[in-house]
Amino acid sequence: MMTTTIPQTMGQQFGRRSWAEPWKIKMVEPIRMTTRAEREQAIDEAGYNTFLLRSNDVYIDLLTDSGTSAMSDRQWAGIMLGDEAYAGSNNFYRLEKAIQDYYGYKYIVPTHQGRGAEHLISQAVIKQGDYIPGNMYFTTTRLHQELAGGIFVDVIVDAAHDPTDLSPFKGNIDLNKLESLIEKVGAEKIPYVSLAGTVNMAGGQPVSMANVRDLRVLCDKHNIRLYLDATRMAENCFFIQEREEGYADKPVAEILREFCSYTDGAWMSSKKDHLVNIGGWLAVNDEDVFDKARNMVVVYEGLHTYGGMSGRDMEALAIGISESVQDDHLRARIGQVYYLGELLTDWQIPIVQPVGGHAIFLDAKKFYPHISQDKFPAQTLASELYLESGIRAMERGVVSAGRDPETGDHRYPALELVRLTIPRRVYTQAHMDVTAEAVRAVYENRENTNGLNMVYEPDYLRFFQARFERL
Ligand SMILES: *Cc1c(COP(=O)(O)O)cnc(C)c1O
Repeated sequence: MMTTTIPQTMGQQFGRRSWAEPWKIKMVEPIRMTTRAEREQAIDEAGYNTFLLRSNDVYIDLLTDSGTSAMSDRQWAGIMLGDEAYAGSNNFYRLEKAIQDYYGYKYIVPTHQGRGAEHLISQAVIKQGDYIPGNMYFTTTRLHQELAGGIFVDVIVDAAHDPTDLSPFKGNIDLNKLESLIEKVGAEKIPYVSLAGTVNMAGGQPVSMANVRDLRVLCDKHNIRLYLDATRMAENCFFIQEREEGYADKPVAEILREFCSYTDGAWMSSKKDHLVNIGGWLAVNDEDVFDKARNMVVVYEGLHTYGGMSGRDMEALAIGISESVQDDHLRARIGQVYYLGELLTDWQIPIVQPVGGHAIFLDAKKFYPHISQDKFPAQTLASELYLESGIRAMERGVVSAGRDPETGDHRYPALELVRLTIPRRVYTQAHMDVTAEAVRAVYENRENTNGLNMVYEPDYLRFFQARFERL
C-alpha cells in the first residue's frame, strides 16, 4: 500500500536521478501574458465562468485535458493518410483493429467524441425507471443515462469523498453498496454497472484490478453487464502497475487488456488518453447491443465507418491509441502531474490526495471555509486564479453537480474542487512552477475573497455556460 503521494519510482527520494519526457519539441505555439486590468475585464465579460473566456486571454490553459494534447510527428504524418471516402474508409479499419488489439473488444462503433458513445449505449440498453450504479457520476455520462430514463446511483467507496484519505484505489466500487442496491431494486432493473477508470470527479483516482475482477463475479452472479468508461484507462493501468501487487513488471498495454477482459464493453472519449483533438468510440462484445448502437449511430453521428470523424481523424486516433499505452509516455505524463502536486503539497496547499492521473484538484472548501457552498467557493477560486495569473482552471463542485431532477434543489457534493488539468505533452516543468506559484499567491490572499452569485443558469450541464457576479 502506498501512503505518500510521491512514489519512489518517480525518483523523488534522496539520490534522485531525474527523468525527462521521452520526446523533444519540434514546433511551438506562442502564448500571451495579459495585464491584471485586461484579466479583470475578460473574467467580468465571461460572467466569472472560465469556460466563457476566450483562449487568447489565457496564459496557461489548464481548463481540461480534453482534446488539448499535442500530437506526435507520426500522428501528423497519419493525417496525410486520410481516406475521406464516405463509406468504408481505410482509416476506419485501422482504427477498428487498434481498438480490438489494445482493448480486446469485438465490435466497434466510432463516434465524434465520448458523449456520442454515451448517448448510444444509454439509449441501447436503459429502459425507463432502470437504475445505473456507478463509481461516482460524470457529468455527460449521468446526463445521458438520465435522458434514457435511468436513475444513477453512486456506489463508489466512501474514501473517494474524502480528499485527505490516502488509499491507493479511491476509484473502486464498494461491492456492499452495489449488492444492497441489487437486493433493493432487483437485478432486472439494472441494465449495467457503469465503471470508470480513473474517476474524474473524485480527483482522477484509479480502480484496482482486484476490484474489477470482483465486480465481474458479482455481475455474473446476477446476470448484469459491466461497461467501462475507458476515457482514462491507460492512466488507470499505470497506477495498477505502480501500486497493485503482481503488476510492477507488466507493461501497461498488457494490464489494460486484462482489465478490459473483465468487462462487456466500453465507451471512450479519445480526446483524453488517445492524444487526439477529437474522436471517440463505443465497443461491445454483445452482438445485439452492437446492432442497436450501429443502427443509431447513423441517426446521430454519421455512417458506422466514420461516426462523425474524418478519415484523417481516425488515422491520428489509431496511432494515438498505440502511443497512449507506452510505459515511458505514461511515466512522463503522470510524473508531471506528480511534480505539480509535490510542490503544492510541500507548501501545504490543500489538494486532493493522493494526486490523481490527469489533474491536481484544489480543495476549495479548505481555501474558503468562510464561503458557503451556495456562494460557489470553487467557481470563486477558479476566477481568482485567473485574475492572479491568467491561468485557466475549472470548477468541479456545486455548479458542476447541477440540480436534483426531482426536487430542483442544488446537489451539494462533498467535494468542492478546482481542477488544474494538465494537457498531455503540451507544457513544460517551468509552466508547472509558474502554476504552483500562482496557486500559492491565491491561497495567501484567501481571507480577502468573497463568493459569487449565479445570475444565469442553463437547463443542462450548467457549468459550461452559467454566469456569475461577484458578491
Ligand atoms: C470527457 C469525458 C467524457 C465525455 O467525453 P467527451 O469526449 O467530452 O464527449 C466521459 N467520461 C469521462 C470520464 C470524461 O472525462
